[in-house]
Amino acid sequence: MNLQSQFKKTLRKIKLSKKDKIIVALSGGKDSSVTAYLLKKFGYNIEGFHIDLKIGKYSEECLESVNKLCKQLDIKFHIYDIKKEMGSGMCYLRSAIQSKQKKGMLKNCAVCGVLKKWILNKEARRLKAKAIATGHHLDDEVQTFMTNIFKGSPELSSNSGPISKNIKDKKLVPRIKPLFHIFEDDIREFSKKNKLPVNYDKCPCAIDSYRIQVREFINTLPRKDKANILKNSEQILKKIKMDDSKIQYCEMCGEPSRKQVCKKCMLME
Ligand code: AMP
Ligand code: ZN
Repeated sequence: MNLQSQFKKTLRKIKLSKKDKIIVALSGGKDSSVTAYLLKKFGYNIEGFHIDLKIGKYSEECLESVNKLCKQLDIKFHIYDIKKEMGSGMCYLRSAIQSKQKKGMLKNCAVCGVLKKWILNKEARRLKAKAIATGHHLDDEVQTFMTNIFKGSPELSSNSGPISKNIKDKKLVPRIKPLFHIFEDDIREFSKKNKLPVNYDKCPCAIDSYRIQVREFINTLPRKDKANILKNSEQILKKIKMDDSKIQYCEMCGEPSRKQVCKKCMLME
């Protein structure tokens, strides 16, 4: 099945109306750009949302790509400036957080991921979005599943799927991944063929993550094997007990959380 047919098939499973407002989390990279391009092409009501992480030249180039893409697609575009909103750029915020952690220091991507997730949910809710679309693809999902297996915590993948399986809560905006069944190589090729304004550089901070080692291993596998891992993961995850702790609201920021204090506030305090 070609990329566009697979994209449409996944969207049918997600069951969103074309009228529903979808906020596309745009990093400036190929995956989220292709997600926005195809959602727009198929008539969905999308707006772009970019978190400007202020990681020097890399962030400037990402912002420029997202700006161009949103102009090309003629969609509304929101920018969250992390320096203005949180007081510093991601590099400083992250080092401050990591220096406070005595043992088991969180990796760069993990810290950044927690903050991005918190921002996206809060801002998408403020913008009255029905869903947040991200550019996660088949390779990402296989990496996450295998990382959790290697770490002995497969249950951490239990929320994985083209649409988030979280308990419904009025403060939680569902997250969707229309590229869930699509290979990264095909997305790269599609973005080049369609000359999308994309920053192909990698984030300079993504250096020490265990996930990167897993990615290198997964990249040695043939496509058939990767597709099989994803298929098996869906079967396996059906049998794994989901985290059924209730959603509560963080006592510090009021955002939805499984604990009294949410992950973001735990890191930032
Ligand atoms: P990553 O974890 O960097 O592979 O990003 C996964 C997805 O998160 C991307 O496909 C985007 O949809 C979203 N994302 C990552 N970085 C940003 C950002 N700076 N602003 C908005 N969305 C982002
Ligand atoms: Zn909080």
